[in-house]
Amino acid sequence: MDLKKFARYGKFFFSKAPFYTIFYITARCNARCAHCFYFEEIEDAHNRDELSLDEIEKIARNWGEMLILNLAGGEPYLRNDLPEIVKVFKENTGLEICAIPSNGILTDRTLTTVERLLKENPDLFFRFTFSIDGMGEQHDEIRSVPGNFKKVTETVRRVRDLRKHFSNFTLHTNSCFMSQNQDNFMDLVNFVHEDLQVDAINVTYIRGDVKLPASQEALQKEKYAEVINHISHLDHHRFSKHPLSAFILGATLLAREKVLENLSTGLRNFECYAIKKMIVLEDTGAVKVCEMMDQYLGNLRDFDYDINKVVTSKLAETEYKKIQNHECNCTWECAIRTGVIYNPKEYGSILKHALTSGKGPKNGAAPKREQVAELV
Ligand code: SF4
Ligand code: SF4
Repeated sequence: MDLKKFARYGKFFFSKAPFYTIFYITARCNARCAHCFYFEEIEDAHNRDELSLDEIEKIARNWGEMLILNLAGGEPYLRNDLPEIVKVFKENTGLEICAIPSNGILTDRTLTTVERLLKENPDLFFRFTFSIDGMGEQHDEIRSVPGNFKKVTETVRRVRDLRKHFSNFTLHTNSCFMSQNQDNFMDLVNFVHEDLQVDAINVTYIRGDVKLPASQEALQKEKYAEVINHISHLDHHRFSKHPLSAFILGATLLAREKVLENLSTGLRNFECYAIKKMIVLEDTGAVKVCEMMDQYLGNLRDFDYDINKVVTSKLAETEYKKIQNHECNCTWECAIRTGVIYNPKEYGSILKHALTSGKGPKNGAAPKREQVAELV
């Protein structure tokens, strides 16, 4: 890694504006997932006053430096100006990594946008993630979209083919662990690993007040333990194109173990840097403490589009103190991962996870029961 870059990463420890932004660029969505915790906003999407590109440019100009931007939703590819949104952040914040999670339903539209993003931003690193929660009809049912599985797998395969032409991206899937799929989650993981051959398989444990609460019933954490152990033993050799990727991978694996421990004890086992290092921004300009709490810090439209004014406000300071005092807890993987990345006390564990990942059975076979037992 060149020294200039290294110095820049160091700077993020001290920056006022959050370095990691999760920006729901639209609440419009073409799916209706059982595990969605944003479903009320999605139902109301057409009444929401989305930020315009001009407003987003003002936000980007005032931001300061940003390392990672996660353009989420709703379904982000429904915004026609997605490439322009990326451009204004890249030009104004020195953005390095842009992540775009998607349900993968709009294959052609997604491919056109992805190709454009890769062509226009050779110096920006992309992480394209597509959600797959079950095999075939199970996925379609969870998402309430007939034919969704066929569409998302086609999208993944076509984005994967772009590896021949572009090297500035990684391709991920994300699967939500929930009641409906916990019994056959391993089949899904093995399918994604062997057939779709993505760069990384993400798993999120269902969280929040979801659309179909039955999705959270009778969850077995032993099964979740089995899954995360299995994934950590799969081959991660393709997850290595960004200088920080080994570090982020180690932090991701550690975060999953912390989710499991948190589920077992009910106690927060990580430092959380929501507000200071990581922030959630909604399509209307509203700034949220995090994805898990309903607490808002204000709307950027009322703060001259300046995030620095929002995160240094009295309200933000009060909320941050509560977070530091561990008055809240959750299993949100992104918050845990950011928490360990910013906590030097965790670096030994991150390193251990980075060094031992992908050392397991290459054939995607299920891990041994004893390995699983260690994690529960
Ligand atoms: S989980 Fe994502 S894809 Fe599903 S309804 Fe919610 S926003 Fe849309
Ligand atoms: S610990 Fe969880 S609930 Fe609390 S602020 Fe962090 S992300 Fe939000």
